[in-house]
Amino acid sequence: MSENAIEKVVIIGSGPAGWCAATYAARAQLQPLVYEGAITEENRMAGTLPLGQLALTSEVENYAGFPAGDLGAFLDSALPQERRMMMPPHDGHGVTGPELMELMRQQAVNFGTRVVTDDIVKVDFSSRPFTLVTAGGSEVRAHSVIVATGASANWLGLESETRFKNRGVSACAVCDGALPRFRNKELVVVGGGDSAVEEATYLTKFASRVHLVHRRDELRASKIMAKRALENDKIQIHFDTTLAEVLGDDEQGVTGVRLESTTDVAKTTTLEVAGVFLAIGHTPNTAFLDGQLELNAKKYIIWQKHFRTATNVEGVFAAGDVADDYYRQAISAAGTGCMAALDAERWLAEHD
Ligand code: NAP
Repeated sequence: MSENAIEKVVIIGSGPAGWCAATYAARAQLQPLVYEGAITEENRMAGTLPLGQLALTSEVENYAGFPAGDLGAFLDSALPQERRMMMPPHDGHGVTGPELMELMRQQAVNFGTRVVTDDIVKVDFSSRPFTLVTAGGSEVRAHSVIVATGASANWLGLESETRFKNRGVSACAVCDGALPRFRNKELVVVGGGDSAVEEATYLTKFASRVHLVHRRDELRASKIMAKRALENDKIQIHFDTTLAEVLGDDEQGVTGVRLESTTDVAKTTTLEVAGVFLAIGHTPNTAFLDGQLELNAKKYIIWQKHFRTATNVEGVFAAGDVADDYYRQAISAAGTGCMAALDAERWLAEHD
């Protein structure tokens, strides 16, 4: 990468979409350059460190190709020692989110992907080649760009919530709900939309009871989903209620919650629970685009053609959660990363 060189394809983001796009682009001889994000306290707090949302989860049981098993020796042989040393030892139960992401990163690097550990903070898509500016202030020019910056789960912002993240507090029931720590225990889900209802219903498979905590007196979820929650004996809905504090200790993680009524400030309730799941929406990481790509009302990038990853700017493609507010799964993100790389390759070939 030299100051004046024009990159064939720059990939912004380092979740499953970014690395899968990089692997395909590298194998197509496009010498992709990935901006994986900066390692800063600000990014840590926002949940936007390199390697995406999966790096914030524990076991990943639903990624195809990774059944439970001891991956210790595989990780030792697949990853360079300097990165392996920075990871916790493998616990033998199956792949974890951070391990899966390291493997995806390494696969892309093995085929010649170059990686810069910095954020892209500004883009100029008004003329080609495109110009991207890093947080460190350097500029890179590119014939094509794949935006794979993902989305970040919304959090309430409570200090106790941050303290117990990954130790009983999660923003993804599908990722974490089946973990042993939640089995046959009472759990809390916060939110009143379709995600909250869906997650609460999903968690009833494992939990003895699910408390759905919603700040208003009616659910936002669609009628049919709301009916399902209201009729489920294992779900207890707490209307007009907010989560005031997550209770727990260093040894056990989450042990309970303190709830507050929104109609009567003096009314607080304490529940003994083993887990807290936030389902209060996601925010796509699109602010840095500064209006240069067409976004939907929820600020997700709009794919312009059915089953294609092209955005409204020719030569700019989007992959993963940044353009998907519906499936939001690692495997679907990886799939669209592959699609974006193939789309970019074809577009570059057509434009010589
Ligand atoms: P959503 O519809 O935006 O709902 C977010 C919920 O969180 C709302 O009930 C909101 O309360 C609550 N909330 C937001 N901020 C809060 C805060 N600071 N404190 C407490 N509560 C807060 O998000 P979603 O449920 O993730 O759904 C996103 C989209 O995906 C929707 O279009 C949904 O229909 C779709 N989806 C569909 C399905 C399905 O069809 N199977 C499943 C999941 C999601 P208020 O109601 O008071 O605003």
